[in-house]
Amino acid sequence: MVVVGSGPIGAVAARRIAEAGQAVTVLESGPVISDPPGSHVRNQARFQQDPDSYLAGIAAEFRYFDQTAAPRGLPGACVTSAVGGQGVLWTNNCPRPTVSERGGLLSAAEWDRYLGDAERYLGVADDTFAGSVRQQRILEHLGPTLTATGREIREQPMAGHLVDAGTIHYAATQDILSGTRVRIETGDVQRIVLDQGRVRGVQLADGTMLETSVVVVAAGAFGTPILLHRSGIRPQALGRYLTYHPVLYSQLVLGPQLCGGADDLPPRLWIPPAQGAPWNTMVLRDTNPAQPSPSDIDVPCAQLVEMQSFCPVDNHPDNTMTITDSGAVHFDVPLREADHARMASVLADQHELAAALGRFRAGIEPQWMTLGFAHVMGTCRMGAHDDGTCVTDEFGQVWGTENLYLATVGVIPTALAVNPTLTGAALAIRSADRLLAG
Ligand SMILES: Cc1cc2nc3c(=O)[nH]c(=O)nc-3n(C[C@H](O)[C@H](O)[C@H](O)COP(=O)(O)OP(=O)(O)OC[C@H]3O[C@@H](n4cnc5c(N)ncnc54)[C@H](O)[C@@H]3O)c2cc1C
Repeated sequence: MVVVGSGPIGAVAARRIAEAGQAVTVLESGPVISDPPGSHVRNQARFQQDPDSYLAGIAAEFRYFDQTAAPRGLPGACVTSAVGGQGVLWTNNCPRPTVSERGGLLSAAEWDRYLGDAERYLGVADDTFAGSVRQQRILEHLGPTLTATGREIREQPMAGHLVDAGTIHYAATQDILSGTRVRIETGDVQRIVLDQGRVRGVQLADGTMLETSVVVVAAGAFGTPILLHRSGIRPQALGRYLTYHPVLYSQLVLGPQLCGGADDLPPRLWIPPAQGAPWNTMVLRDTNPAQPSPSDIDVPCAQLVEMQSFCPVDNHPDNTMTITDSGAVHFDVPLREADHARMASVLADQHELAAALGRFRAGIEPQWMTLGFAHVMGTCRMGAHDDGTCVTDEFGQVWGTENLYLATVGVIPTALAVNPTLTGAALAIRSADRLLAG
């Protein structure tokens, strides 16, 4: 069997197939950019010692479609081509989707089972930063206020663990595949070769044809529809119903009563989406790419936290990623009235949270990141019926094919507010079980 793409979702699909005793090859077009191959770039000592240098340090790994595009053309949309995909760069936050975000394709028991399996494969834990004094105090301080409004604040589940008090191990493809016999081979897949709905194999850029019984395309939310399109597989829903997260970012100087000592562990907290507040906010000390005003430079690190809010955009059939015959890609995702209203509420919410916790750091007041940078989903969505609104069935099998499956956050059919990789991984494991059964 062949999995196209070595990001975290390709890796979990490959691991599931390998655990069932089947031979599986992962094909990856990108180079090795970390040591060992497929490990997280952020595990390097220089980023552990200076987390704020991280985003500048990895900037060269992002290939943008069109940074000059208007906001509705998603100027932030980008891909990373590397062994391990964008999963060697990610922030590793792995919240479960809340019940209202899950849609009706899986039963509650299936969600629990597959999210649990995905957490195990990704090494997700929610007690890694339990020793953080800031974390404990923020939980105690904000918890009752949020509970009174039907919301909550809790530990953020994260794929990784503490090595020692100053070192975080961030999990990536190398960790997911450790202990398996899965091999990642260099291969730029140009075409999936189909014969009357049955995949015969994949053709690589050097002309090699690799025959296989099953193909799982795990080439990311952009790479997957691009490969399908190039292979002549162009269902009506391909690239439509796109959703993503406008991200509101700020940094806070915490009130002194909420701080620990100079060597306090960083906090990593999560305010899940809730009725009346359907967005996803994190309060964490992670990495800060923004420059504070000169007047506010000298703030001790142990007094700082960032807020990141992910604000889902409604799935609309006209939210499109268009792929032309020459392979060029254009986006058209206008923000509609409901999206703007939600974004305004997120902004107001960050102001209220900041007032409760301390104050914004001057120069790093709430700002929207370039639109399209984070968490594009829905580009090849799954659904229960072949009615033109989805590309695959509810198991990720492309409609009209016998042995072609997709494993990517692109299949997520709903406007998810939480970080999507865990959900995409859970769906990928379920798809792998289905193809193994078939
Ligand atoms: C800075 C940053 C922070 C993030 N933080 C989080 C977070 O905290 N939580 C979260 O849930 N998500 C986060 N994400 C998003 C997360 O990285 C992605 O959701 C995840 O990597 C998707 O995994 P994937 O395996 O589907 O695709 P990718 O990781 O994109 O991997 C796809 C791979 O397929 C390869 N490929 C594409 N086309 C072909 C082809 N034709 N032939 C061969 N190979 C091909 C690519 O080269 C690539 O390596 C973050 C992303 C970034 C950039």
